[in-house]
Amino acid sequence: MENLAHETIVAISTPPGRGGIGIVRLSGPRAVPMAEALVRLRHPLQHASARFAEIYEPSAPGEPAAEGTSEAPRKLDEAVVTCFQAPRSYTGEDLVEIAAHGSPVVLQMLVRAALAQGARLARPGEFTERAFLSGRLDLTQAEAVRDLIDAQTLYQARVAAEQMGGALSRRVQPAKQQLVELIALLEAGIDFAEDDVDVTPNAQILTRIDAMQPILESLHRSFARGRLVHSGLTLAIVGRPNVGKSSLFNRLVERERAIVTAMPGTTRDLVSERVSLGGIPLELVDTAGLREGADEAETIGIQKSREALADAHLVMLVVEGNTPLSEEEQALAASLAGRRALLVRNKSDLVQQKSLLDTQPEALFASPPEASSEKESETVTNIRAVSTSALTGEGIAGLRETLLQMMQAEGMGSESGMLTSLRHHEAVSAALAALGKARAAAQAGIPHEMVLLDLYEALRQLDSLTGETTADDILNRIFSTFCIGK
Ligand code: GDP
Ligand code: ZN
Repeated sequence: MENLAHETIVAISTPPGRGGIGIVRLSGPRAVPMAEALVRLRHPLQHASARFAEIYEPSAPGEPAAEGTSEAPRKLDEAVVTCFQAPRSYTGEDLVEIAAHGSPVVLQMLVRAALAQGARLARPGEFTERAFLSGRLDLTQAEAVRDLIDAQTLYQARVAAEQMGGALSRRVQPAKQQLVELIALLEAGIDFAEDDVDVTPNAQILTRIDAMQPILESLHRSFARGRLVHSGLTLAIVGRPNVGKSSLFNRLVERERAIVTAMPGTTRDLVSERVSLGGIPLELVDTAGLREGADEAETIGIQKSREALADAHLVMLVVEGNTPLSEEEQALAASLAGRRALLVRNKSDLVQQKSLLDTQPEALFASPPEASSEKESETVTNIRAVSTSALTGEGIAGLRETLLQMMQAEGMGSESGMLTSLRHHEAVSAALAALGKARAAAQAGIPHEMVLLDLYEALRQLDSLTGETTADDILNRIFSTFCIGK
């Protein structure tokens, strides 16, 4: 950990190519003197202050121009230089940022000059790695920096920002604290059994484990939604051929992607496209008409449609608003009971009889199966209907709004501190498994040394989440919570 900090690293921190501004970043013990050698400052660098600077072409390769040489050095650019001194910087080390105009040639010249001064090119992510190593960020926060940079929708950025602020770490913290306390209790029980500290009764161990488990279990479950932050929800667009599925798909995508034709049964393959609704990623899947008695290619398409329908988080059943629902459509509607489904009455521009649009959608989704679980009954009542015209655009904004509400009802955008990566999920799974083993061991009356092994494993897993080391933590904990007295 210490060795790393001896080197000063340098990199261009702005994206490759030309830009209005380009930033060269230096971090490490020599960042300040190096920066002072790279540019000409009128005032010395000072913590958290911006300084004007001029950039001159080096007079000899690799050497910055010095004043008073025979050939007058050529000025190339002007820059603003900011400096943050250790430990109050992003990396926790001395950090200098030179913001010049975004000319790759000038930025590369600055980097070369820094290398000539003894800096090393930073590896990918090394500034954040240093922030982690210096304890400025824990591992989940460091990961969140990456996720924020990678975010493609506002929702992804929001979740990353929360995690960067420590939302996930804060959610793990209570379980971890309880775990450390239990370990400390058992360690003391073992080490000082002959002295005045009692051996912990197994019933107390079980009670304590039972208190931690729900915290970790709810965290573990959060991955079901957390994983969707990256992948998004899927929406299957289903319905008879020619009702306007592809046209609605295009309206939602706002590009001509799916093929629209006036002939029934042309969307034989699945067409999917990712959109961002209210900042939340949503994958739209346009399906072939779910029609019986079609030709072979169409049958394959229909099979795929059924699979897409089964897999999707949300379903949009499209019907023609100007005709009553066919038997087939009613059957399809009924089969969607228990799903988060939306009935879209399209072609509203053709509707003469507006009363058709007023039919209660619940009537169409008749005979829901015995609503056994809470989720099912809740979903059945969530069925809504909207009317649209893919042709004129009427009702499309309302459709988007309804879809967004359905996404939010799926838990998107509400929870904070979710597990968002497989790494998180595996760590919490392993911690839960170890905790389960510890519980079983305590229940079976197995010696506490063995129970401790599982508890340490659970702690190690939770620590791997935040990237902390713990041996010292536990020792401190033992000596601070128990009066040793000798
Ligand atoms: P799909 O088979 O369900 O995907 O239907 P398409 O999107 O391919 O549309 C079938 C036909 O209906 C095309 O001729 C569309 O132009 C037309 N269509 C789609 N939506 C509307 C609408 O809202 N109003 C009217 N009048 N025609 C529409
Ligand atoms: Zn289509």
